[in-house]
Amino acid sequence: MNKISCDICMDLIPLVKDNVASEDSYKAVITHIHECDECKELFDQTEIENTIQNENISENKKINDKKIISKIKNQLILMALTLVVIGSFIGVMLTESEFMFYNILIMPVIGSLSYFTLRKKSYLVVIAIFSFAYLYHFIKYIMEGLFDKSQIASFITAPAMWASIYSGLCALGVLIAFLLYIAFRKENK
Ligand SMILES: [Zn+2]
Repeated sequence: MNKISCDICMDLIPLVKDNVASEDSYKAVITHIHECDECKELFDQTEIENTIQNENISENKKINDKKIISKIKNQLILMALTLVVIGSFIGVMLTESEFMFYNILIMPVIGSLSYFTLRKKSYLVVIAIFSFAYLYHFIKYIMEGLFDKSQIASFITAPAMWASIYSGLCALGVLIAFLLYIAFRKENK
């Protein structure tokens, strides 16, 4: 086989590195770099550059994967929080209707959802449900018994009762979710 010049060799090196060179070109380059230090250096360097490039690509891919995962996670959190808000609203509205006992299920589910999305901050949801339930019933009772001043005490205590029941059920949901989380984490260890 004819020997090739350094120029041709340098032209062929990238093709060899990318595995697209013909067999003859491959052999010619290998033969040449055994005899030419300059081209061998270039050949080795191309190897390093390719490796770095590949590492960068996989690093970028990892970052992209992470971005996608965190985006999905954020969407799930947003969905769960929307459910928490809507659920609390509906749950409190159900009071004194024939469906109010669904709250035995709704409130703990809200609590669990809050724990899985907000973790330690889920107590904020419990407080929010207490405040919302209290305010809602307080306004409702005031409006229903607007001129009945003899019932002032029940304007204060009755809403507190509902607020305590709902936030208590919600806190129970948080506790259940917390225990499940602990149990699940232990199992994974
Ligand atoms: Zn050469």
